[in-house]
Parts: sequence; structure tokens; C-alpha cells
Amino acid sequence: MQYQQPEACSCLCGQVNYSVTKPTLVRFYCHCTICQSVYQKPFADATVIAGGGVVHSDGSQITYRKLRAYPNINRGFCPSCDMPVLALLPLVPGVGLTAMTLNFIPVHMYQNQTHVRPCDMHIFYDSRVADIDDELPKHEGYLRSQAAVVGKLIF
Ligand SMILES: [Zn+2]
Ligand SMILES: [Zn+2]
Repeated sequence: MQYQQPEACSCLCGQVNYSVTKPTLVRFYCHCTICQSVYQKPFADATVIAGGGVVHSDGSQITYRKLRAYPNINRGFCPSCDMPVLALLPLVPGVGLTAMTLNFIPVHMYQNQTHVRPCDMHIFYDSRVADIDDELPKHEGYLRSQAAVVGKLIF
């Protein structure tokens, strides 16, 4: 199945805008406690895009915060509506090159939800709020969750 590129993304208030110009590598539901608090939901729904696959619009500003449990991840929020808009994960810790940084895009950012790839897996399922009755693989714990996502990135 082909997905159209680029995809337009925007936050609720419209202040943060960007285009996704590369295909989605993996999509997951994350049940970790940080996602639960950041998203104010039982789990986050996010896609992973390779480095350089996000092109920001002029004037689009994102406020980045690091959360202690996962110090390598920069979580970006809209300065106006405070919605989570983008998270950045350097493939090599400390190396901030765009091409070497994975983009985690919350699915709520996509303006056309029908173009978003179907979900691949649940991660951090051990900290779930409620059991999920679906056919997707469910990975528990930090190491197994990370290995499942990375395994999808290395084709
Ligand atoms: Zn999470
Ligand atoms: Zn906003």
C-alpha cells in the first residue's frame, strides 16, 4: 500500500505546522507512564519517521523539554496550545545532526488520518491502564519495548 507524501501536520491551534516527507518506519501505541501523563490518555499513538523527514513551516515554533526517565528524548510541545507535537531521538546520543535523529510524530498531528499507516504494536504494555483486545504484538518493559521498535527500523 502506498502512502502519499508529503503529509501535512498541525497542532490543535495551528501554530505548529510541518510536512512529513518520508514514509513511516513504524507506528506504535506506547503505554509508558510518561506518555500517559504527557498525552493525558491511557496510551500514546505515534509514528516514527527517519531523520530529515520532517520539514518545518516558516515561523512554526516548538518548545522542547527533556523528561528525566528518558534523557535522550527531546519532547516538543506547541508554545500556544501545549499539545505534544514532535519528539526527537538522536540515534547517537549527543549527536544532534538532523539526518541522525529519529522523529516521533503523534498521530493526532496528521491532518489526513486515513493516510496514516496501521499500527504495528503495543509497547510498555506492562504499565497499561486497561487490557487491549486486539491482534497486535504486545511488548512489556523498557528493553523489550525498545528492541521491538528498533527491530522494525532495521529492515
Ligand atoms: Zn511512552
Ligand atoms: Zn498549538
